[in-house]
Amino acid sequence: MKKILILSLAVILILIFPFKVHAYTTLSAKWSSHTIRYYYDSYISTRAKTFIKKGADGWNGTDVNFELGNAGNYNIYCTEVSNSNVDWDGLTHSTWYGKYFTSQTLYLNKAKTAWNYDNPLQSVAVHEFGHCLGLNHSSGKVIMNPYTYGDNSRYGTYKLTTIQSDDRNGANALY
Ligand SMILES: [Zn+2]
Repeated sequence: MKKILILSLAVILILIFPFKVHAYTTLSAKWSSHTIRYYYDSYISTRAKTFIKKGADGWNGTDVNFELGNAGNYNIYCTEVSNSNVDWDGLTHSTWYGKYFTSQTLYLNKAKTAWNYDNPLQSVAVHEFGHCLGLNHSSGKVIMNPYTYGDNSRYGTYKLTTIQSDDRNGANALY
């Protein structure tokens, strides 16, 4: 009886263990400070500004502190584009030297569906700020799921507009 119990425990542990291991993945660089400043030019739309702020604030409560910088002091330049010839609704371009980022540009794409609806756009913005802090894509019910719409997608399937515990763990592990 005891043997069966131990064997069952071993089986249960083996079954549970893979799901407890973190799923988040990281980019090859991060910022050297946990205070990361974002900035945008005054001419971008109010909608872009609103959702850039929501994207940054989406990581409140983690060990990362995104704050609005100014023209002379920022890490992430945020802007909007209108490009229907690409498949992305948000994009973050990073440059780095060694293990630290040196600059980033975050784009929200006005030509894509997500732009027109508050919750999908928030989902995109929070996702992009995840890249800004150094997280890469993960699958499933996490904000770092790369797909806004479609099967097993961040918004279409899981309706995510906020970070999940795995996203938080990833941010906290990096900073
Ligand atoms: Zn992404």
